[in-house]
Amino acid sequence: MSDLQELYQNLIIDHSRSPKNFGVLENATIKNRGVNPICGDELTLYLLEEDGIIKDVKFTGVGCAISTASASLMTETIKGKTREEAEKVFDAVHQLITGKLVEKPEVLGKLMALKGVSAYPMRVKCASLSWHALKSALHYQQEPVSTEHE
Ligand code: ZN
Repeated sequence: MSDLQELYQNLIIDHSRSPKNFGVLENATIKNRGVNPICGDELTLYLLEEDGIIKDVKFTGVGCAISTASASLMTETIKGKTREEAEKVFDAVHQLITGKLVEKPEVLGKLMALKGVSAYPMRVKCASLSWHALKSALHYQQEPVSTEHE
């Protein structure tokens, strides 16, 4: 295993053990739920959006290491971004974990840690759950998202 791969692995482990931005965001303006029935991952995403900027973001739920780490990394990445920027990151992550990256890796930064899941179709749904909840929230959709309908 290369140093870089190892670093990415450690990042996933760290974020799954002590996720960032975990908890209920009381003053959230947008809320969305996501489920991944295949693995049993569940999460609720809370966003505080003001003037098109994501001022704060948190999540709660139960899930496997990959889904938790992905949600944690996602909240860290999109905090302070505009809705458009967040959507661009969503696109890049989606490309990355489905093995079809066309965006520059710079857009992703430490989210490159999720690259490894592209080799495991079951895990792709775990990694993408929080991102689908995000996308749906950015479009103000109230319907819970499910990875079954991809
Ligand atoms: Zn999972």
